[in-house]
Amino acid sequence: MPVHPRTTADVLVVGGGIIGLVTAWRAAQRGLRTVLADPDPGGGAAQVAAGMLAAVTELHYGEETLLGLNLASARRYPDFVAELEEASGQDTGYRACGTLAVALDADDRAHLRELHALQRRCGLDSVWLTGRDCRRLEPMLAPGVRGGLRVDGDHQIDPRRLASALLVACERAGVAFHRAWATRLTVDGNRATGALLGPPGTPPGESPAGASPEPAGVSHEVDADQVVLAAGSLSGRLAGVPDEILPPVRPVKGQVLRLAVPAPRAPFLSRTVRAVVRGSQVYLVPRANGELVVGATSEELGWDTTVTAGGVYELLRDAHELVPGITELPLTETRAGLRPGSPDNAPLLGPTELPGLLLATGHYRNGVLLTPVTGDALADALVSGELPEEARPFTPHRFSPARQEASV
Ligand SMILES: Cc1cc2nc3c(=O)[nH]c(=O)nc-3n(C[C@H](O)[C@H](O)[C@H](O)COP(=O)(O)OP(=O)(O)OC[C@H]3O[C@@H](n4cnc5c(N)ncnc54)[C@H](O)[C@@H]3O)c2cc1C
Repeated sequence: MPVHPRTTADVLVVGGGIIGLVTAWRAAQRGLRTVLADPDPGGGAAQVAAGMLAAVTELHYGEETLLGLNLASARRYPDFVAELEEASGQDTGYRACGTLAVALDADDRAHLRELHALQRRCGLDSVWLTGRDCRRLEPMLAPGVRGGLRVDGDHQIDPRRLASALLVACERAGVAFHRAWATRLTVDGNRATGALLGPPGTPPGESPAGASPEPAGVSHEVDADQVVLAAGSLSGRLAGVPDEILPPVRPVKGQVLRLAVPAPRAPFLSRTVRAVVRGSQVYLVPRANGELVVGATSEELGWDTTVTAGGVYELLRDAHELVPGITELPLTETRAGLRPGSPDNAPLLGPTELPGLLLATGHYRNGVLLTPVTGDALADALVSGELPEEARPFTPHRFSPARQEASV
């Protein structure tokens, strides 16, 4: 048997995107000895995401249960940000600026009217505006805007700054980082007991996605009472996790552009502006520092993160229809990232049917919004074995083969 250096811990978190980081931070705050494994902690989808905290504007038919969790997280955001900024000494770029969802033609307007009706049925605050009212609020909008919904409660944060602040907060709370891939979950009898980690900087397989199930080498072993799998779109690919417990998470590619509003800045946009143009979502998120984020495509192409001419073209074309003045702005960055999608678009949180293994994954298009509530829910589950009430509908058990057979 090969002998590797070993670390013991109460909790091992696999994956250091914002979800793994918030889980590790909250676990360490509860007094648990916490280790986090990720070759690039603070990376992941947050490096691409727009950072809209859009519980109300992102409401979809059939997702009313998810709405409850989204709202719970949105309510927590101001206190969460204050605590995180204090703990890390870093600014997160949180802006309580609201959102305006607009319609460019009669079909879009009918669609927005339906969304407004659904929001009202769910008791949410949003106000219907005429096209003229929309342009009064945001003078850079195209003259053709036919109406819109003002949602004063949907704010934004800069996800890159959020990730950076969480990283520092984890370090200060005593989380130990291993900058390496977890190559295999270790299981003893019927219990997860930790993970094998690969040599630093070496992906376990041929793809940096770590998609190969077999470890290329082991440099370290972590023994932990509990393991949290928070590996984003790769969560379904960790070797050693029994097949029936592997989370059904898939990558959903999103391409995003970053533009710069040059200083001295006349206000370009004062809040997030979004619309559905030819059936595709487009949004413009203005940061306080002059950055303007334009997103996002939604593509089912596996782990591909290529930025394509077609993706950039469509985003610029649709954003230009909404706000013609964007063509004057410098284009500073193009990038693609992977949303961790789940079959019902909702996250998988908490204990699995393998004792000692918990999930914090599948946050899809709302991972930034759901960061505060996820950290709290996982910390509760790690300490007590139980999810708090609001997180219970998101147990991974809802996808267990036995439960699904029973419901057929
Ligand atoms: C284009 C785009 C726009 C978005 N816009 C928004 C938005 O406006 N609002 C919002 O709320 N959300 C948004 N999201 C969604 C949000 O970014 C994600 O839901 C969230 O960042 C997922 O975080 P995560 O930590 O679960 O996963 P990830 O960010 O994917 O992080 C997973 C981490 O796990 C690590 N990892 C994987 N496998 C292993 C392993 N075997 N061992 C060790 N480490 C491993 C990876 O290196 C990575 O760092 C957007 C996403 C995209 C792509």
